[in-house]
Amino acid sequence: MLDIVIIGSGPAGLTAAIYATRAKLDLLVIEENFVSGGQVINTYEVDNYPGLPGINGFDLAMKMREHAEKLGAVFVNEKVTEVSLYGAVKTVKTEDNTYEAKTVLIATGASHRKLGCPGEEEFAGKGVSYCATCDGAFYRDKAVAVMGGGNTAIEDAIFLSRLCSRVYVIHRRDELRADRALQEKLFAAENVEMVWSGVISSIEGDEKVGIVRVRSTKDGSERTIEVSGVFVAVGIVPLSGLFASQVETDEAGYIVAGEDGETNIPGVFAVGDVRTKNLRQIITAASDGANAVTSAEKYLNTCS
Ligand code: NAP
Repeated sequence: MLDIVIIGSGPAGLTAAIYATRAKLDLLVIEENFVSGGQVINTYEVDNYPGLPGINGFDLAMKMREHAEKLGAVFVNEKVTEVSLYGAVKTVKTEDNTYEAKTVLIATGASHRKLGCPGEEEFAGKGVSYCATCDGAFYRDKAVAVMGGGNTAIEDAIFLSRLCSRVYVIHRRDELRADRALQEKLFAAENVEMVWSGVISSIEGDEKVGIVRVRSTKDGSERTIEVSGVFVAVGIVPLSGLFASQVETDEAGYIVAGEDGETNIPGVFAVGDVRTKNLRQIITAASDGANAVTSAEKYLNTCS
């Protein structure tokens, strides 16, 4: 039986793997995606991770993964389908295998929130994207829209402003949520136009996106903007569905856990973007991984 199964390989899961190998725990990391790193791999430039200013998100994720592997962490690329978390022996089933472990660390992170407007689904992959660094190059010298006012949207808009002819940043309020440093970079870009107090009411086109309709949140008036691409960055939703019938979650679906990662079930820990917390950043995800492994070690000591 394993000491710990880590589900997910973003910064929280990878840091947990590093700490667990150093603690000599018998561990397995189960990752669903072919590339480790979670949301970080979609970040062009990470400018707030200590010691690595301006590092590319993909490169940072690879460094973390290599670090964990170098220390001996074992990874499998499988999709978890079912978990049984109560009791001393936890079971994690994937499409291919069943694993038994004394502790489980949930590091599944979060995924993109959808806009839910007409055209979003229809044009997904045909002009609608949730990843500027993945798809931005398709829109070189074209006009695009970014919807959202948080760090992700503004990072995306800065990245796109270096490639695209024009970037419309559409935000539902008249003040951005993103960090000041990012706002300054954004406002310095000459080809960025802010569309304040607006939401995309529909995305339209023939075979590919041609226009977005933007409805004013102030007076309901509508404006049409010609764009070839729409980048949606309106926040995240926690990937906790698989666990929600067993672990306690809040009303938004985040797994209730403190800095120690402890959930309502002994031996089950939640880390990174999937847990309740104030600040969702790479560094706080990494910190969670370290803390939760320390908690898991304490739990394992009380069991043995
Ligand atoms: P976020 O901070 O929750 O921002 C989401 C943005 O989308 C907000 O501006 C929000 O508007 C807007 N929004 C939400 N629902 C909407 C809807 N239905 N229609 C239109 N607009 C909507 O999400 P995020 O930017 O994806 O970031 C997620 C977390 O990762 C945050 O904690 C963020 O700080 C962190 N992050 C950090 C960095 C970094 O430090 N470099 C980079 C990326 C992400 P309101 O502002 O009006 O609520």
